[in-house]
Amino acid sequence: MAARIIDGKAISQAIRDELKDRISQVKASLGRPPGLVILLVGDDPASQVYVRSKLKTGEDAGMKVTLETLPSSASLEQVLEVVNRYNADDACDGILVQSPLPKALGHAAEQQVFDAIHPSKDVDGFSPISAGLVAQNRSGFAPCTPAGVIEMLQRSDIEMAGKHAVVVGRSDIVGKPMAMLLLHQNATVTICHSRTPDLAAMTRQADILVAAIGRPAMITAEHVSPGTVVVDVGINSVTDAAQAAQIFENHPNRMAVFEKRGSVLVGDVHPDVANVAAAITPVPGGVGPLTIAMLMANTVKSAEGRSQ
Ligand code: NDP
Repeated sequence: MAARIIDGKAISQAIRDELKDRISQVKASLGRPPGLVILLVGDDPASQVYVRSKLKTGEDAGMKVTLETLPSSASLEQVLEVVNRYNADDACDGILVQSPLPKALGHAAEQQVFDAIHPSKDVDGFSPISAGLVAQNRSGFAPCTPAGVIEMLQRSDIEMAGKHAVVVGRSDIVGKPMAMLLLHQNATVTICHSRTPDLAAMTRQADILVAAIGRPAMITAEHVSPGTVVVDVGINSVTDAAQAAQIFENHPNRMAVFEKRGSVLVGDVHPDVANVAAAITPVPGGVGPLTIAMLMANTVKSAEGRSQ
């Protein structure tokens, strides 16, 4: 039987609709809308698309979204100067530095920049203080993607308590906080990664399987037991015709997208997994829209904290 498709766009819209009243209340008490600053360094095309989408969603919701840009030749000092300027700005509730930063800034730059964002404005939830608060199940800003996955499961009436959740991926921004948030929902959690031997043996034990790997269609039907809820966090752009044809052999509509555009978005989960799973999040239109909705929710929460 085909899996139930979890509609991330609809859930994201519901969250954003619910934020409207809260945004009005912030405006009434602070005399200004919630303020989000997005810093984009360099000209990475995917980042530009993500930033445009965040800008539009925030502005449509009635927030003030300010875009700051720096060229890819910018120094770490220049990036930190922008962050510090908005740390000190009372009209700014949230600061988001779009990842990845240009490689020229060096390996450690990204963490240094995330570390510099004041914890009360860390609406992306990437700072070590936010990570600690999430680990201890305390109030703070959880990273938007894993927080969005929890919202998605809750709003889809998918029980997490007592279930075995398997998370593939252990990054600081997705895999690890995802595992923590599932644990706080009383799931029993297994984290897998590139050094996990026999991945399929682990993932087949999952009631809830979250794939956050960054490898197109890596999780196949062989990795999934019937009845599993599959959450596909991956967003991969496939530009190779042979790879697209292999992945979308049984999905002519998706292959048509590739033929039209020369590229197609693919999750970390193979589309044929929908024949085995009980429920699945699509790519696109699954976790992605939730990530943006949770960014808005975190910014409103930050503004509410300032208006008390
Ligand atoms: P990272 O590259 O930081 O982490 C990938 C993780 O996958 C690592 O822990 C890695 O293991 C693991 N991994 C890699 N290969 C394998 C393998 N063969 N078997 C098992 N595990 C493996 O990626 P992110 O966490 O930042 O992102 C993951 C995916 O989610 C990407 O596709 C990204 O584009 C997408 N994403 C989507 C968002 C959304 O809004 N929907 C937001 C953020 C990310 P190890 O640690 O051992 O190297």
